[in-house]
Formats: sequence, C-alpha cells, structure tokens
Amino acid sequence: MPTTLVLFDRDLRLCDHAPLHHAAARGTVVPVLIWWPGDEGNWPMGAAQRAWLAQSLPRFEATLRERGSRLIVRNRPTREALAELLDETGADALYWHRRYTPAGRSLDAAMLDFARERGIETEVFDGRILHDPTALCTGAGEPYKVYTPFGKALVQHTEVPPPLSQPKTLPAPKAWPASELNALVDALTPSPRWDAGFWDAWTPGEDSALARLDAFVRADGDRTGLDRYDDERDRPDRDGSSRLSPHLALGEVSIRTVWHAAQGSSTGRTKFRNELLWREFAYHLLWHFPSTTTEPLKPSFARIPWRDAPNDLDAWKRGQTGFPYLDAALRQLWATGWMHNRARMAVGGFLVKHLLLPWQDGARWFWDTLVDADLANNTLGWQWVTGSGADAAPYFRVLNPMLQGEKFDPDARYTQAFVPELRRLAPKHALAPWDAPPDALRRAGVALGQTYPHRIVDVAAARQRALAAYERTKTA
Ligand SMILES: Cc1cc2nc3c(=O)[nH]c(=O)nc-3n(C[C@H](O)[C@H](O)[C@H](O)COP(=O)(O)OP(=O)(O)OC[C@H]3O[C@@H](n4cnc5c(N)ncnc54)[C@H](O)[C@@H]3O)c2cc1C
Repeated sequence: MPTTLVLFDRDLRLCDHAPLHHAAARGTVVPVLIWWPGDEGNWPMGAAQRAWLAQSLPRFEATLRERGSRLIVRNRPTREALAELLDETGADALYWHRRYTPAGRSLDAAMLDFARERGIETEVFDGRILHDPTALCTGAGEPYKVYTPFGKALVQHTEVPPPLSQPKTLPAPKAWPASELNALVDALTPSPRWDAGFWDAWTPGEDSALARLDAFVRADGDRTGLDRYDDERDRPDRDGSSRLSPHLALGEVSIRTVWHAAQGSSTGRTKFRNELLWREFAYHLLWHFPSTTTEPLKPSFARIPWRDAPNDLDAWKRGQTGFPYLDAALRQLWATGWMHNRARMAVGGFLVKHLLLPWQDGARWFWDTLVDADLANNTLGWQWVTGSGADAAPYFRVLNPMLQGEKFDPDARYTQAFVPELRRLAPKHALAPWDAPPDALRRAGVALGQTYPHRIVDVAAARQRALAAYERTKTA
C-alpha cells in the first residue's frame, strides 16, 4: 500500500486539510510535524505562539489517536528529518500546504528539490489563503497595492471551494516511527509559566476553533455575533469580533471554512468578509514584496529619523506610558497574548508617531507576544500604522491617544479591566487621570508618578515632532 508523509505546519486541523484528505484516499498516512526554528529565517515563532503550540499539539495528537493515527514529531532540520522518516516508513510521497512567507517559500522549494532527488511523489496544496497571489493581478499585470480593487477582483475571480470534510479513516502504518512530541511540548512550555493567564481567555485546538466559529455565526437572541459585528467590532470593551485570529494563525480552522460560514447579505457579514479580505491582501503583499517584513514598502519612509530611546520603548512594552487606554491595550497583550484591532492601531500609531520609535521594534514585540502572530497581517498592520505601506492612512493622520480612549472605550471598562490601579476612579477620570481633581485622585488611591506613571510625552509637542520627521518622506 502506498504511504504518504503529510507535513503539518501552522495547519493543525483535520477538517478542510487537502493534503491529509488526499493522502488518506491514496493509502497509508503518516502525519508529521518538523520543528526547526532555523528553517524559519528571521522570524522563528515568537514566545506567545510557542506557548499556544505547546497546548495545541497534544490536543491535535489526541484527535489523531482517536482515529487510530498519530503525530510524528522530529526536532531537527527539515531535510534531515524527512530523510529519516522516508527510510523509517518506506513512504513514497510527501504532501503539504503551500507557504507564503519568505522562509516558507524557500523551504517549499528545498522540499521539492529533496523529493526530486529521492524520486518521491509530491503534491503541494493551496489551503492557507483564498486566492492565488501569482494569478490575481491588476489589468496591467502588476500586483495590487490598493485594498478595494484587490478585494473586488478577488471576489470576482476566485471561486472558493467548499471546505473538505475530515477523512473518514486515516490508514495507519504497520509500525509507527518514534515521535519526539513530548520533548517538543516540554521545550515549548514556558518556564516559569508566564502564560498561565492566557488560558482563561483561550482554548487552543481545532475543536475550540470550530466551537468559537459556531458561536459567532449562531444566533444569540435575535442576531448572531456575525450580524452584530458591524456595530460591535470596533469596541475593545465588548466581545464584538470573532477572536478567531490565533486559530487562523495556526490553521486550527481553515480560512475557507470561515469564509463559507460568513456568507449572507447582512452588513455585519459583509464587513466581516471584508476583514478576511484584508488578510488576503496582507498575504498578497507579502508574496509580492517579501522585504516589507523589515523595510518600508514606500522607500522614502526609510528617511524618517527614528529615535533611539530604549526607556520609552520599554515603557511602551510594559504598558507604562501614562495614557490609560494605551496601557490597558499593552497590558491586555501581556496578560492574554492578544489585543483588540482598534487598540493595535492606537498603540502602534503612538509608538511610531508620538514616540518616533521604529515600527520594526513594534512589529518584533507583537511577533513575540501575540498568540495570533502572523507575518503577513503583522507586516501589513505595522506598515499601515506607519503610513509606509500599501493603501495606508495619510502620514499626517496622528491618532490622539486620549480621543481614542473616549471614542472606543467611553465607559473606561476596558481601561479599568487592565489598569487596576485606576479602577476606583470615575470612568472619565480613569481615561485622563491628569485632569482629575486632586481630591478624586486621593480618594481613589491614585498618586500620579507613584501608583500610576505620568504621561511619557506631551501629545501636542510629540505630534509636531512626528510631522516634522515625516516631512522627510515627501518625495522631492
Ligand atoms: C499593528 C497591527 C498588527 C497586527 N498584527 C496581526 C497579527 O500578527 N496577526 C493577525 O492575525 N492580525 C494582526 N493584525 C490585524 C488585526 O488586528 C487582527 O487580525 C484582529 O484584531 C484579530 O481579531 P479577531 O480574530 O477578533 O478579528 P475579526 O475582526 O473577527 O476578523 C476576522 C479575521 O479577519 C482577519 N483580519 C481582521 N482584521 C484584519 C486586518 N486589519 N489585517 C489583516 N487581517 C485581518 C484576521 O484573520 C481575523 O481573525 C494587526 C493589526 C495591526 C494594526
């Protein structure tokens, strides 16, 4: 019976997994995961996502075992691990999902070379995104750089196939090769357990991803979360977005499954699909402009005289900027491994504009601390807040951190949830403690500069400094 190695990498699911589906139809299946951060170039998986993976892998292995299969893990370079596994299993084929990151593309090419040398069959399936970035292009044959025409073209020209069901059986080899799963889980589990708080907010794994999707599209009262999405998604103080991003980032649910679940004509559904299209746009840009993970898409933005101010960067990372709404967001990230999209825009804009610190520092911090770290989305997000990317906001748009709080967290619920030292203040004072009467501060036990920091910049002066620095991006 033919035997296929199915390689898993940020696609930890059984449903809508084309490589697994087709391998099971072909014969014996050996599910494999190779862990070798050296194969991931400049972006080896960050700490928060590794903690997520430590939870997700044993669950994934358990679902495979329930079906008489296993997950075979090898902790060594891909080529070496594959050579061992081919010898140990006698496999004659290798199936996996196409990758889009620069390191992933190199790895795909290296695996194809390796398979050719060994004379084994390969098939590389699409399944991480909805469109083919090599096929979708403008009338002039160029990659898209503007979101709206990109989204329209994708919807018009891309037939998104319905998700595949999970294979009915997973034919197992007569003997299983050794697996290093336990060693990997030990290595991925943080020590000390700084991730403990994450698991109040999240349950990793495919079952939980599908349950979250189901809860989002199912009616709660007269409207589903999806239908309420339009009204609620911009409010960090509400549970208004899907929170599927960590599951999507590790492929615990497929993008096709989410896309099909979100069909329908309500405004909320359309808005939600538009966000999924931002994800597609991010992958489109990453594919065509791989250097944008570290370089601005618009070259003139390399001229910005970024500051070197490690203390300010540190205060930003720790949520000690003295701006309560921003500090709440930065501490939400630290406590739960996730941050609301509106808050990402506010803290990102504050880093690059008010603090005039390089966006690359912010992108690295997010990469390390987000459970949903995704190289395409993170790159797009940081280029967008900087103004240096495709279809970004104009450079002179500088979000005011106080107004952001008033607008998106008007009752200070989000702020007070993550900044406990301001909990006893009235909401309007919690958003701007510097304006609170001394008496109100005293009664709430707040001493600015002691129990909660003073603002690290003067907003008006910082805005002027940013605008002056950004002048340099103007082309002569
Ligand atoms: C500076 C910055 C950095 C970011 N880094 C990441 C990242 O590393 N990983 C990540 O998945 N998202 C990132 N985003 C995008 C966005 O903030 C998250 O996708 C979103 O907050 C996830 O929450 P959700 O699943 O509830 O989203 P929902 O609003 O429910 O959206 C559903 C899905 O659509 C996609 N999506 C939504 N908004 C965006 C967007 N603006 N760009 C691209 N895709 C989007 C995501 O896959 C998301 O899970 C970043 C945004 C900014 C401004």
